[in-house]
Amino acid sequence: MKIKKLISKREINKRVNELAEQISNDYKGKDIEVICVLRGAVIFTVELCMKIKSNTRLNFIEISSYDGTKSTGKIKINKDLTDAITGKDVLIIEDIIDTGRTLSFLREYLLEKKPKSLKICTLVDKKERRVVDVPIDYNGFSIPDKFIIGHGFDIDNDYRNMRDICYIEE
Ligand code: 5GP
Repeated sequence: MKIKKLISKREINKRVNELAEQISNDYKGKDIEVICVLRGAVIFTVELCMKIKSNTRLNFIEISSYDGTKSTGKIKINKDLTDAITGKDVLIIEDIIDTGRTLSFLREYLLEKKPKSLKICTLVDKKERRVVDVPIDYNGFSIPDKFIIGHGFDIDNDYRNMRDICYIEE
């Protein structure tokens, strides 16, 4: 298994700064109810939230649909939200949108709870793999169809703390 660099930590930092500036402008004077999608989005969420100027509250949800490197298509909530989101300005922070099934499921699930607004921010978008359409408000990087690891991305919970986003060459 060969690991190759796709996006460097330096490029990620630059893009996170840009996204934080955009989000800070869009949410001026508002509290943001951030929903971090565990576990892959943890690192991105921390880096982004530390740079957003508006007050951000943190809420977590754990959803799974992958088994190793394969999307199972079966989505389940392993850990539900702790705080209510009704009437709040909710920003979902996700690591990657691949087929779109997870986010589409999560979006519908959260909309039922009647937030004041609901936006989606993802670090990576694998657009060519999309099966279900999801509206993305903030996207860090669009990438080709490669399985990535590092900077929060895993295989069976390994490799999450690699600084760069890498891909595996078989
Ligand atoms: P979707 O439901 O959009 O197909 O899948 C979304 C989830 O699949 C992501 O939250 C992530 O956990 C996982 N995923 C999709 N593509 C990749 C990838 O290239 N690398 C890793 N590590 N996880 C991925």
